[in-house]
Amino acid sequence: MTSRTVLITGGNRGIGYAIAEEFVRQGHRVAVTSRSGSGGPEGALTVKGDVTDSASIDAAFSEIESALGPVEVVVANAGITRDTLVLRMTEDDFSEVIDTNLTGAFRVVKRASKGMLKARFGRVILISSVVGLLGGAGQVNYSASKAALVGMARSLTRELGARGLTANVVAPGFIETEMTAELPEAQQAEYKKQIPAGRFATADEVAKVVAWLAGDDAGYISGAVIPVDGGLGMGH
Ligand code: NDP
Repeated sequence: MTSRTVLITGGNRGIGYAIAEEFVRQGHRVAVTSRSGSGGPEGALTVKGDVTDSASIDAAFSEIESALGPVEVVVANAGITRDTLVLRMTEDDFSEVIDTNLTGAFRVVKRASKGMLKARFGRVILISSVVGLLGGAGQVNYSASKAALVGMARSLTRELGARGLTANVVAPGFIETEMTAELPEAQQAEYKKQIPAGRFATADEVAKVVAWLAGDDAGYISGAVIPVDGGLGMGH
């Protein structure tokens, strides 16, 4: 296994934290961003970084590059929801979600690609959602932001694929995190009925797939959407 410098945005809790833990466990040099600048797992460098602010992302990258070297693997994980029915959804509800989930990923990928092109190696992994392709009532903003990541990964693949970069999307289904804990219990039970696996996944199950995509064995996979959803999104 080649040891890499890895950056995960939103690595202070939930799926991002589990991804960072997995990369640390596998012996990589790991940095995470969080808006507070603290909260990443042991063994990872935690730096302050807000994906809605390109100056903040630039500063985070500079700090990581000084401490750990050029970023070779970037996981755009930071994300938010502002769920509500379309008639009630304000333009702010829509644009805040796009600004974090989609433009945020763009800011991070753009900054990372500079060093990756120079090194002629890079792994970009965008954390989408089953909802991106399946849609979700009350999630017009979130679903649109997550679907767009597929176009982003595929365009990156076409633009940078010949320079040693891969760009892929991981699309988790329902994962046990703070984001899903907020759902009412009846709704959680209803969702579980629709999942062929009959359960939510652990964040660790997503982390293992992300780490594999960044590894030496996944070098010829690019522009793919890898579901980690217990079969919920089959056919999409
Ligand atoms: P959490 O709500 O537990 O964590 C979200 C993370 O994103 C936090 O670290 C948060 O940091 C960070 N974040 C939010 N806004 C910003 C910002 N502006 N700048 C930097 N970081 C920010 O979410 P999950 O772990 O559940 O989700 C992680 C990703 O996985 C998201 O993209 C989500 O859409 C996706 N996903 C989650 C699923 C689930 O079932 N949980 C299913 C499918 C996809 P802070 O502490 O500063 O708020």
